[in-house]
Amino acid sequence: MVNSLARQTQPSVATSRITGKNMAMHTDYQGREKVAAFFGAHAAAVDRCESDIRPGIRMLGELGLLDLGVPDTTQGRLASMLLVVEDVASACLSSAFALWAQRMVIDYLSSSDRPASTSELAGLRAGTRIGATAIAPAMRHVAGLEPVPVVATRTSSGVRLNGPINWASNLFDDALVAVPARFEDGSGMVVHVRTTDPGVTVHSAPDLLTLGATASSSVTLTDVEVPAAAILSEDLPGFVRSFRPTLLLIQSAYCSGLTGASRHHIGERLTGLNAEFTDDFAELAQRHDSVRRRLFDFAQAPHRSSSRDLLRLRLGAARTAGEATGLEATVRGGAGYVASSGTSRRLREAAFLPIQAPTEGQLRWHLAQFE
Ligand SMILES: Cc1cc2nc3c(=O)[nH]c(=O)nc-3n(C[C@H](O)[C@H](O)[C@H](O)COP(=O)(O)OP(=O)(O)OC[C@H]3O[C@@H](n4cnc5c(N)ncnc54)[C@H](O)[C@@H]3O)c2cc1C
Repeated sequence: MVNSLARQTQPSVATSRITGKNMAMHTDYQGREKVAAFFGAHAAAVDRCESDIRPGIRMLGELGLLDLGVPDTTQGRLASMLLVVEDVASACLSSAFALWAQRMVIDYLSSSDRPASTSELAGLRAGTRIGATAIAPAMRHVAGLEPVPVVATRTSSGVRLNGPINWASNLFDDALVAVPARFEDGSGMVVHVRTTDPGVTVHSAPDLLTLGATASSSVTLTDVEVPAAAILSEDLPGFVRSFRPTLLLIQSAYCSGLTGASRHHIGERLTGLNAEFTDDFAELAQRHDSVRRRLFDFAQAPHRSSSRDLLRLRLGAARTAGEATGLEATVRGGAGYVASSGTSRRLREAAFLPIQAPTEGQLRWHLAQFE
């Protein structure tokens, strides 16, 4: 069965603000029906933590959908990746968030000037190895808000790491984790470690409002020896700069997918008393369309989009998802308040978006610097 949610995200044509040409907003991908059916069928079990996000990542890997646009984002390749993320998020934000992490780690490893072994990357691309990205502190560090808490010291074979990772997701056994660290002189770097490496302690995951199936928790690094081959970059600002466009676009895509799901459900219920919400729905639909237009436009040339435009897109995408899930709950009534309902799940999923780095506070702060 084709998930009806996937049908609402059909390709269309728009004029690119970047190239001025007509373009397909996004490129359909092979296996789209399978993706919609799989995540639609598993979302409730993932939400209840009866299953975790790994089968979904593996399934996307089998379909060859984890690395679209790596390393070449052109020709609609990154746009296709965003469409995959939207589709997954419209069914299950936990899975879409895990997909974001997996995809970013694939990006980091394949673009590094000291690439990890081919087998490491092959496992990540296939979804048989899980990738985690503890990148939030790097963004705060580079913005000058707070230094990265993990400290690196040089050794004869690479670096030794000590310090905490306050949050990361996908911290499954033997996952590969991208970790930012700083030297005493304040300069920064990014390395990868395994959750099973000596000195890496993954703390038990707390109960969460949602995302319980994403193995999200904290980590302590104690004298973790990292070989030089596992150093991804010794230029932290450059690293953040190079991945930020893709990172923000994928995050915006899962916000947009969640909005699309709520939009679909609201659209079916605007009769009777709910007709009062027709104007609210029209405004929401307009904002969602604007998010999607910019999302797929910027995906044509992510590095040519301005930071300001990307940050505004990410902020707008997250806020629109919050509004959409709130309106869905309003028009759905008591049935949406039942804990096991999709409506309540989407409300809880949307509650994560303002606190995901870059957080709403950070986004507003960054955007205020442009004024
Ligand atoms: C379930 C879950 C999964 C996560 N998974 C990942 C992941 O996979 N990868 C990843 O990189 N991160 C992950 N994170 C972390 C996330 O990206 C954010 O970094 C984190 O949620 C921010 O929360 P915090 O409490 O650390 O916020 P803080 O950044 O400490 O902020 C707390 C409050 O203080 C404010 N504040 C922040 N800085 C300042 C300042 N300088 N001055 C004044 N006020 C300030 C903020 O606006 C906010 O209101 C995850 C978080 C959660 C909850």
